Amino acid sequence: MILRNKIFESFLDLFYPHLCLHCSKKIEKNYFYFCKNCLMYFDYFKPNPSLNFSAVFENIGPILTFLKEMKNKNLFSIFKIVAAFLVVEHFKLKWDIPDVIVPMMEKKFLKNHIFDLSKEVAIFFKRPIVKKTTSRDTVLVISDTLNFKKFENFKSKILYKKIFCLALCFDVFFDDFNLSE
Ligand SMILES: [Zn+2]
Repeated sequence: MILRNKIFESFLDLFYPHLCLHCSKKIEKNYFYFCKNCLMYFDYFKPNPSLNFSAVFENIGPILTFLKEMKNKNLFSIFKIVAAFLVVEHFKLKWDIPDVIVPMMEKKFLKNHIFDLSKEVAIFFKRPIVKKTTSRDTVLVISDTLNFKKFENFKSKILYKKIFCLALCFDVFFDDFNLSE
Protein backbone atom coordinates (compact mmCIF):
# COMPACT_ATOMS: atom_id res chain seq x y z
CA MET A 1 0.00 0.00 0.00
CA ILE A 2 2.79 2.37 0.96
CA LEU A 3 4.63 1.46 -2.21
CA ARG A 4 1.52 2.04 -4.22
CA ASN A 5 1.04 5.45 -2.63
CA LYS A 6 4.64 6.28 -3.39
CA ILE A 7 4.16 5.35 -7.04
CA PHE A 8 0.99 7.39 -7.15
CA GLU A 9 2.78 10.34 -5.55
CA SER A 10 5.64 10.27 -8.02
CA PHE A 11 3.09 10.02 -10.80
CA LEU A 12 1.35 13.11 -9.41
CA ASP A 13 4.72 14.83 -9.21
CA LEU A 14 4.92 14.67 -12.97
CA PHE A 15 1.86 16.88 -13.17
CA TYR A 16 2.05 18.89 -9.97
CA PRO A 17 5.55 18.86 -8.48
CA HIS A 18 5.81 19.74 -4.78
CA LEU A 19 9.04 21.61 -5.21
CA CYS A 20 9.53 24.84 -7.08
CA LEU A 21 10.93 24.10 -10.53
CA HIS A 22 13.30 27.03 -10.26
CA CYS A 23 14.59 27.26 -6.67
CA SER A 24 13.58 23.75 -5.46
CA LYS A 25 11.95 25.12 -2.30
CA LYS A 26 8.68 23.60 -1.14
CA ILE A 27 5.75 25.17 -2.94
CA GLU A 28 3.08 26.95 -0.88
CA LYS A 29 -0.49 25.67 -0.82
CA ASN A 30 -2.51 26.60 -3.92
CA TYR A 31 0.65 27.33 -5.89
CA PHE A 32 1.80 25.14 -8.76
CA TYR A 33 5.19 24.61 -10.40
CA PHE A 34 6.74 27.79 -8.98
CA CYS A 35 6.89 29.13 -5.43
CA LYS A 36 5.43 32.51 -4.50
CA ASN A 37 8.83 34.16 -4.55
CA CYS A 38 9.84 32.91 -8.01
CA LEU A 39 6.44 33.82 -9.46
CA MET A 40 7.22 37.44 -8.63
CA TYR A 41 9.91 37.28 -11.30
CA PHE A 42 7.39 36.41 -14.00
CA ASP A 43 7.65 39.74 -15.68
CA TYR A 44 5.33 40.13 -18.63
CA PHE A 45 6.92 41.74 -21.61
CA LYS A 46 4.83 44.70 -22.74
CA PRO A 47 3.58 43.68 -26.18
CA ASN A 48 3.74 46.06 -29.09
CA PRO A 49 0.74 45.36 -31.39
CA SER A 50 2.38 47.09 -34.35
CA LEU A 51 5.04 44.36 -34.56
CA ASN A 52 4.30 40.92 -35.99
CA PHE A 53 6.42 39.12 -33.40
CA SER A 54 6.27 39.00 -29.64
CA ALA A 55 7.39 37.15 -26.56
CA VAL A 56 5.35 36.63 -23.40
CA PHE A 57 8.05 37.15 -20.81
CA GLU A 58 11.34 38.84 -20.30
CA ASN A 59 14.34 36.60 -20.37
CA ILE A 60 15.03 35.97 -16.65
CA GLY A 61 15.62 33.19 -14.09
CA PRO A 62 12.35 31.28 -13.62
CA ILE A 63 11.44 31.71 -17.30
CA LEU A 64 14.72 30.10 -18.29
CA THR A 65 13.75 27.22 -15.99
CA PHE A 66 10.53 26.91 -17.97
CA LEU A 67 12.64 26.65 -21.14
CA LYS A 68 14.91 24.06 -19.57
CA GLU A 69 11.90 21.98 -18.45
CA MET A 70 10.50 22.08 -21.97
CA LYS A 71 13.79 20.97 -23.46
CA ASN A 72 14.19 18.16 -20.92
CA LYS A 73 10.54 17.10 -21.32
CA ASN A 74 10.34 16.04 -17.66
CA LEU A 75 6.84 17.34 -17.17
CA PHE A 76 4.02 16.27 -19.45
CA SER A 77 1.90 19.27 -18.66
CA ILE A 78 4.50 21.99 -19.20
CA PHE A 79 3.74 22.33 -22.92
CA LYS A 80 0.06 22.97 -22.28
CA ILE A 81 0.90 25.69 -19.76
CA VAL A 82 3.40 27.48 -21.99
CA ALA A 83 0.99 27.13 -24.94
CA ALA A 84 -1.74 28.76 -22.83
CA PHE A 85 0.57 31.73 -22.15
CA LEU A 86 1.22 32.08 -25.88
CA VAL A 87 -2.46 31.90 -26.81
CA VAL A 88 -3.39 34.53 -24.21
CA GLU A 89 -0.64 36.74 -25.60
CA HIS A 90 -2.00 36.23 -29.11
CA PHE A 91 -5.44 37.46 -28.01
CA LYS A 92 -3.92 40.42 -26.16
CA LEU A 93 -2.17 41.45 -29.36
CA LYS A 94 -5.43 41.12 -31.33
CA TRP A 95 -3.61 39.38 -34.17
CA ASP A 96 -5.61 37.55 -36.86
CA ILE A 97 -6.55 33.98 -36.02
CA PRO A 98 -4.01 31.78 -37.81
CA ASP A 99 -4.88 29.32 -40.58
CA VAL A 100 -1.84 27.20 -39.84
CA ILE A 101 0.77 26.76 -37.10
CA VAL A 102 4.43 26.38 -38.01
CA PRO A 103 7.12 25.43 -35.49
CA MET A 104 10.24 27.53 -35.95
CA MET A 105 12.73 24.74 -36.50
CA GLU A 106 15.84 24.46 -38.58
CA LYS A 107 15.36 20.79 -39.39
CA LYS A 108 11.73 20.36 -40.36
CA PHE A 109 11.36 16.72 -39.36
CA LEU A 110 13.03 16.86 -36.00
CA LYS A 111 10.21 16.62 -33.45
CA ASN A 112 11.80 18.59 -30.67
CA HIS A 113 10.29 20.62 -27.79
CA ILE A 114 9.31 23.46 -30.17
CA PHE A 115 7.30 20.95 -32.14
CA ASP A 116 5.61 19.73 -28.93
CA LEU A 117 4.81 23.30 -27.91
CA SER A 118 3.43 24.10 -31.39
CA LYS A 119 1.24 20.99 -31.20
CA GLU A 120 -0.40 22.33 -28.02
CA VAL A 121 -0.89 25.80 -29.56
CA ALA A 122 -2.44 24.11 -32.61
CA ILE A 123 -4.90 22.28 -30.34
CA PHE A 124 -5.98 25.58 -28.74
CA PHE A 125 -6.59 27.21 -32.12
CA LYS A 126 -7.96 24.00 -33.68
CA ARG A 127 -5.60 24.56 -36.60
CA PRO A 128 -3.12 22.16 -38.23
CA ILE A 129 0.66 22.18 -37.89
CA VAL A 130 2.02 22.25 -41.41
CA LYS A 131 5.41 21.77 -43.01
CA LYS A 132 4.44 23.64 -46.14
CA THR A 133 2.52 26.92 -46.17
CA THR A 134 0.81 28.73 -49.06
CA SER A 135 0.49 32.39 -50.01
CA ARG A 136 -3.14 32.30 -48.81
CA ASP A 137 -2.21 31.39 -45.22
CA THR A 138 -2.13 33.50 -42.12
CA VAL A 139 0.79 31.78 -40.45
CA LEU A 140 1.56 31.67 -36.73
CA VAL A 141 5.18 30.70 -36.13
CA ILE A 142 5.93 29.26 -32.69
CA SER A 143 9.27 29.25 -30.95
CA ASP A 144 10.69 28.82 -27.47
CA THR A 145 12.88 31.90 -27.61
CA LEU A 146 12.59 34.68 -30.12
CA ASN A 147 15.47 35.97 -32.13
CA PHE A 148 14.42 38.68 -34.55
CA LYS A 149 17.08 37.87 -37.15
CA LYS A 150 16.21 34.17 -37.08
CA PHE A 151 12.55 35.03 -37.57
CA GLU A 152 13.39 37.28 -40.55
CA ASN A 153 15.42 34.49 -42.06
CA PHE A 154 12.68 31.91 -41.42
CA LYS A 155 10.08 34.24 -42.94
CA SER A 156 12.06 34.62 -46.14
CA LYS A 157 11.91 30.88 -46.75
CA ILE A 158 8.16 30.27 -46.48
CA LEU A 159 4.98 31.47 -48.20
CA TYR A 160 2.30 33.43 -46.36
CA LYS A 161 -0.40 36.06 -46.65
CA LYS A 162 0.27 37.31 -43.14
CA ILE A 163 2.79 36.03 -40.66
CA PHE A 164 3.16 36.34 -36.89
CA CYS A 165 5.63 34.87 -34.45
CA LEU A 166 5.18 34.09 -30.77
CA ALA A 167 7.70 32.79 -28.26
CA LEU A 168 7.95 32.31 -24.52
CA CYS A 169 10.76 34.88 -24.19
CA PHE A 170 13.36 36.74 -26.20
CA ASP A 171 16.68 35.00 -26.55
CA VAL A 172 18.64 38.06 -25.51
CA PHE A 173 18.65 40.06 -22.36
CA PHE A 174 16.20 42.81 -22.51
CA ASP A 175 18.59 45.71 -22.27
CA ASP A 176 20.37 44.57 -25.42
CA PHE A 177 17.27 44.77 -27.50
CA ASN A 178 15.39 48.01 -27.83
CA LEU A 179 11.90 47.45 -29.20
CA SER A 180 10.39 50.75 -28.26
CA GLU A 181 9.45 53.04 -31.10
ZN1 LIG B 1 10.98 29.12 -6.25
